[in-house]
Amino acid sequence: MKQTPTPNASLSQGRASDTTRTMLLFTYCYTLLTAPFLLTHFTFDILLALFPWTRPTKEWSLNQAARMRVVRLVLLSWSRLRWGDRLTLRPGRERNRFEVMQPRSPKLYKGALSDATIHPETIGTTWTPARPPPPALVRPELTVALHFHGGGFAIGNGRDEDTGYLARTMLQHMGCNLVCTPQYRLSSHSSGNGRFPAPMQDALTAYLWLLHEKHIPARQIIISGDSAGGTIALGLLRYIAEHGAELAIPSPGAVALWSPWVDVAAALDQDIRRSPNYGTDYLNGEFGAWGAVAVSGYGEFDASGPYLSPLHHPFGPPVGGGTPMFLHAGDREVLWDDIRLAAERYGDVGWKVHLDASRHCPHDILLLGSRIGFEREAEAAAGEARRFFLATTDLKLRTQEVSGTLRSLGITRPLAIGLRAVSGLVRQHDARVPRTSHCKYQVSHLRTIHRSVTEQHHSHTSSWVSCTAMANSIPNGQPTDGLYFDVVIIGAGISGINAAYRIQTEGPADFSYAILEGRDSLGGTWDLFRYPGIRSDSDIFTFGFPWSPWKHNVSLASAEHIKTYATQSAESQGIDQHILYRHSVVSANWSSTEKKWELQVTVAGQDHPIVVRSRFVLLGTGYYDYEKPLETVIPGIENFAGQVIHPQFWPEDYDYTGKKVVIIGSGATAVTVLPAMAEKAQHVTMLQRSPGYVFSLPSNSIITALLFAILPVSVAHYLNRIFWLVRSHLTTVFCRAWPGLAKLIIKHATIRQLPPDVPWDPNFKPRYNPWEQRFCACVDGDFFAALRSGKAGVVTGTIRTVTRETIELDSGERLRPDVIVTATGLKLRFGGGIRFAVDGKPFRWSDKFAWRAAMLQDVPNLLFLTGYETASWTLGADVSARLFVRVLREMEARGATVAVPRPSRAMPDKLMMSLNSTYLKTVGEVLPKAGTGVWAAKTNYFADMARAKWGSVSADLDFS
Ligand SMILES: Cc1cc2nc3c(=O)[nH]c(=O)nc-3n(C[C@H](O)[C@H](O)[C@H](O)COP(=O)(O)OP(=O)(O)OC[C@H]3O[C@@H](n4cnc5c(N)ncnc54)[C@H](O)[C@@H]3O)c2cc1C
Repeated sequence: MKQTPTPNASLSQGRASDTTRTMLLFTYCYTLLTAPFLLTHFTFDILLALFPWTRPTKEWSLNQAARMRVVRLVLLSWSRLRWGDRLTLRPGRERNRFEVMQPRSPKLYKGALSDATIHPETIGTTWTPARPPPPALVRPELTVALHFHGGGFAIGNGRDEDTGYLARTMLQHMGCNLVCTPQYRLSSHSSGNGRFPAPMQDALTAYLWLLHEKHIPARQIIISGDSAGGTIALGLLRYIAEHGAELAIPSPGAVALWSPWVDVAAALDQDIRRSPNYGTDYLNGEFGAWGAVAVSGYGEFDASGPYLSPLHHPFGPPVGGGTPMFLHAGDREVLWDDIRLAAERYGDVGWKVHLDASRHCPHDILLLGSRIGFEREAEAAAGEARRFFLATTDLKLRTQEVSGTLRSLGITRPLAIGLRAVSGLVRQHDARVPRTSHCKYQVSHLRTIHRSVTEQHHSHTSSWVSCTAMANSIPNGQPTDGLYFDVVIIGAGISGINAAYRIQTEGPADFSYAILEGRDSLGGTWDLFRYPGIRSDSDIFTFGFPWSPWKHNVSLASAEHIKTYATQSAESQGIDQHILYRHSVVSANWSSTEKKWELQVTVAGQDHPIVVRSRFVLLGTGYYDYEKPLETVIPGIENFAGQVIHPQFWPEDYDYTGKKVVIIGSGATAVTVLPAMAEKAQHVTMLQRSPGYVFSLPSNSIITALLFAILPVSVAHYLNRIFWLVRSHLTTVFCRAWPGLAKLIIKHATIRQLPPDVPWDPNFKPRYNPWEQRFCACVDGDFFAALRSGKAGVVTGTIRTVTRETIELDSGERLRPDVIVTATGLKLRFGGGIRFAVDGKPFRWSDKFAWRAAMLQDVPNLLFLTGYETASWTLGADVSARLFVRVLREMEARGATVAVPRPSRAMPDKLMMSLNSTYLKTVGEVLPKAGTGVWAAKTNYFADMARAKWGSVSADLDFS
């Protein structure tokens, strides 16, 4: 059905523009003259907002009332000055998240969408948090919200500055994976190509592009729109209902409309000031009139037609029907009555409608919630949409767990809230704890919709729980054999996830990548190890990703907590969508003729390996063997009648209550396990051949706490990382520069914490200097507290033999454990156990030098991600990931497809790692060699990062 042209449709665009210009001149003068009055009025209103009973509604806070007034003034000024947005197809600050969509075949734009002068055009779109994975990786669990922004058809651009908050709210609270916000043509633009049906054409372009270019199945798409974007979304649905069957355009999975503008014509013939909600909204009549006049082409089209005023022209759901429609509005917005009526009318013609009203709220809080102080209500509304869709569709929306998950991990609340008690410095907006009594929204059912969950609020400590099914699913049920990607990352541990982030944000925009992971879950080390008390032993602030703030004030975090953090971080950036679980790479061969890597991959549950090809391979495979522990010779251990456990293979739910435990080893694992086991065991002994350094690190830091209390999270995160980076760097430098003094300080700190029956010498007097071998950290001195409790002890000596019931030492001492824990280290392995070859010729890692400690001599397009021994691993892995992105850019600039490191001179062989802990003794046999210059090992984060970002990437690197 065509939008009805009005009698003055013959007005030429030129004439319309002349009239507009005259009008604008008049408006500018008028605005200038009335500005003093407006400002006085504004100041007066702000003063009135100081008292609850003089605010537009007494339920608003001063913050909300004041912000509403500001937005109202700004919008009024824009409307009077006709200050529309200018659109550009340049990526801008959205960089790789911005894409350009080409229109589809003209035949697909029929009926109301075909126009003599307005034709479909190329438009841009922004993805949040990232572009979707390559089509081959699109899973049934991927849900995309295609959202059309509001702004009266006159303002807005779908970029971060406009829809950033809305997109994040949809991701976090509605549970979709990706949000796509097209920048459809605006009617305010002087070119005149944005009037009806331009926005509708663009909406169709965007939808078809998702279906055909991105291969997102329609049932996994939620069509969404706020305010005027709601009109567009409804227009797109009407088009699908009218032409979908004929043009083979399928219906979307669901519809979400946020304060939709369902009667554009009303803005031209009704006085908005007569609405009872006029005082509690920021919308003004001039804004509506501007948008309505502009979109209808200054009278060329009748705005009261079905596409622009869908309130008066309800239509049934598209063929196949059943698409549920979620409608949200504020009950104090000027459009409230229209929206309520629309919900009734659309319900009457067969839609499954659910109207959700946010009490005391103005217009479009999903778009402007963060600017006008209605975040809580916006988040609750998005959460309500999720519940509705879960109840009525097959959409796989991520499940949000109320803070329970983190509470179970021992973290009660976000850092800033915990701080309130300490410092009283927490700003009001941080105190968003779940309080049902503060809930300000209600739900009315216009159609009987199952809604099992009552109002539920989510604090910002809430976490997403990945569907476990996701780990098992193969994209859209397709086999993964024969897939090709620009980059294959092997390993979904901390290094692999971080590299994925760097590639998708800083790499070439159209690069496709996949992560092949042998396990059925991400996290690597933090997924594998399950021994009691497992936690990080370097501070989590530098161990965490630079791009994903660690929001809790615990400096050493548990494995479970790190795993949750890694999962959330990957999901928050859409990286999880690129992971192929249960895909273990067994061999990799570089073909010089094809200029590609060919990977043989075993897939759990499949008999034969599959082949995956890529231009580049990135190794995030860690540094140890996942299947085999380090074989240490403990004489007679096979005779022991009790249980012998290696921490790498901790038996699930193993109950050691009341047992006598001996832990063999003195490294980080032993220091962690001892206090954890001492809680339940009868007694725990740490049996060590030689002692190491153990120092206590406070679980909370006052500086971290203060930073997060007084600064916005992003700034606090940045400064806190710098603080911890510098702190750990200075500690290492100090220990290495003044080992004698460092030893003395540690000695005194240790003796102070030891019980009288555990002497410092020989138990805590190492034979090496601090940081020659690893330093072990314990949290708040828990290790020493366990010793003082009498439930744990330390024995230093050499094992002569282990018998059926005892461990006999050279000193003649005998230990009688029920359980032996062999915390004797890890078996070093490099490159994930993959058999590598170049043109069919295998090579040994240890024969080759490593270029910038990341690429292998004479091996093309291969990069490995390793960390530091004396600082958090992630820092080193990030240096290599950023280096990779630099190399990619250099290749792009040179038009090269292959990069191979080749030494230009002879070099002395050096070790890649400088520590000499027992389990690192085989470094030279496993790891590549370090040399000098660009072949030197990574040792200093600051210098290495500077080199990765700004240093030469062409020295000793051949491009072809
Ligand atoms: C108990 C323990 C505690 C630690 N604590 C700290 C700490 O506090 N601070 C610190 O900086 N470092 C610590 N480390 C070192 C730790 O391993 C790194 O910090 C970091 O987690 C390594 O991350 P990664 O992604 O590089 O490797 P990993 O975490 O080892 O992940 C490698 C991933 O690659 C996958 N993979 C391997 N081979 C293949 C293959 N062929 N095909 C497919 N997938 C493959 C594995 O399944 C795994 O998921 C600790 C290590 C251990 C064992």
